[in-house]
Amino acid sequence: MHIRNPRTGQADYTISPPNPAQITDLVNQFRLAQIDWLALGVEGRVEAMQAWKNALERYKEAIIDALTTDTGRRNETLLELDVVLKSIDRWCGIARQFFAPPSQRVSSIPFISIEQDLVPYAVVGVISPWNFPLLLSVIDTIPALLAGCAVVVKPSEVTPRFIRPLLQTIAEVPALAKVFTYLEGAGETGAALVESCDLICFTGSTATGKRVYKQASERFVPVFLELGGKDAALVFEGADLDRASSALLWGSVVNTGQSCLSIERIYVQDTIYEEFVKRLIDKTEEIKLAYPTVSDGHLGPVISDKQVDIINEHLVDAIAKGAILQTGEPGCVKLGGGHYCRPTVLTNVNHSMKVMTDETFGPVMPIMPFRDEDEAIALANGTIYGLSGAVFAGNTEEAIRIARRMQCGAVSINDAALTAIMHEGEKNSFKLSGIGGTRMGPSAIKRFMRQKAYLIKTAGIPSPWWFG
Ligand code: NAD
Repeated sequence: MHIRNPRTGQADYTISPPNPAQITDLVNQFRLAQIDWLALGVEGRVEAMQAWKNALERYKEAIIDALTTDTGRRNETLLELDVVLKSIDRWCGIARQFFAPPSQRVSSIPFISIEQDLVPYAVVGVISPWNFPLLLSVIDTIPALLAGCAVVVKPSEVTPRFIRPLLQTIAEVPALAKVFTYLEGAGETGAALVESCDLICFTGSTATGKRVYKQASERFVPVFLELGGKDAALVFEGADLDRASSALLWGSVVNTGQSCLSIERIYVQDTIYEEFVKRLIDKTEEIKLAYPTVSDGHLGPVISDKQVDIINEHLVDAIAKGAILQTGEPGCVKLGGGHYCRPTVLTNVNHSMKVMTDETFGPVMPIMPFRDEDEAIALANGTIYGLSGAVFAGNTEEAIRIARRMQCGAVSINDAALTAIMHEGEKNSFKLSGIGGTRMGPSAIKRFMRQKAYLIKTAGIPSPWWFG
């Protein structure tokens, strides 16, 4: 399978996906190896994860180079690896606290005690997208491994170059290499994982998420879906407009808008609308494309060529329906073989336009005025998605009160897209943005374990409910 380079447009890399029978064999082999992994205990697993972290440090340059070629961007890649390294330490700390030695407790029946146990799922399949190829391939993997599961990861076929250096880091930790690997491949490889693993963590589009959910339901395999979004930001009279415009510019266009948690729609109270739009346009015009070299400017290319078509379709549709292009371009521009999208501000938009209802996944900022809080909430909640959102208001209390009415799993208060940075708040996806327990915060580790109870007769007496 040939892979396109997002900066040059050339197919300069190939991958060789395993066939479904090879995947079944691998999963069966991991299922056996997982028994020893679990027997290592949490301290043994923490030790292996720390050894892996050291290996990641040693291969840092090779991983960064591969990820930079995969995504066509560098600054976000440096941040991505840094976040991953820090998350290993955070999860090791959480896992240590989580696995307290079991203790018996008395029940409501005096001669029956209860001991609780946790049994990890044997093999977890992780399927991840292209927008943060490394981070989203390990965000569920690290807690799953620490919980005692074996893990097979299938990252996106759009950005597979980092897999080879990553496999070298895993090979450096023999205990881990028996229960942790990455597979190259596209949808078929992902589907084969869904067919063979004991639990699936899927991050990707809502359309694929629905397919994965249906397939897994045949085997009663638990699935955690982290899907698309159409995050709304609400800016109320009384908000600090300078801060709101800076935060929303960053939250909308960073990483070329290719984040599930990007701000995709901005609603501004009519009394401050003109002033907000003016400030946002001025700041947007300062943002430059990362071209001709990866170290120039701010925004790299659109990574996936399929996404280029979606961004262009949304812009064409909006402009045809009356949207006004305040700054930016009416579509992606081709530079040196790559497709780039200039940060784009649209006004005169409404919910008949795809740019207000469907996930754009580009640096596009459609802004719409609202009269009062009820209208703002109706607009923000008028979506099939419910990932996250943002509220800017005169004070924190007012902003939180408004945020409580938003149908989504996390709301940044007087800032934007904070879930990109802060992974400690526990959150669920609402509506078609996903299903399953929180992937963030300490309780995320529980998702990888089933609870088991030992019910212990503690007195040598007949139980009163026995026959005769
Ligand atoms: P996608 O759904 O096209 O692909 C995601 C992964 O699924 C890829 O690895 C792909 O090969 C695999 N896949 C495709 N068909 C499959 C099948 N039938 N069975 C199993 N696996 C299959 O998504 P994408 O375009 O790679 O990623 C962008 C999407 O991801 C956006 O919608 C974005 O919002 C979403 N996303 C969500 C989060 C989140 O945390 N909620 C984070 C990042 C991205």
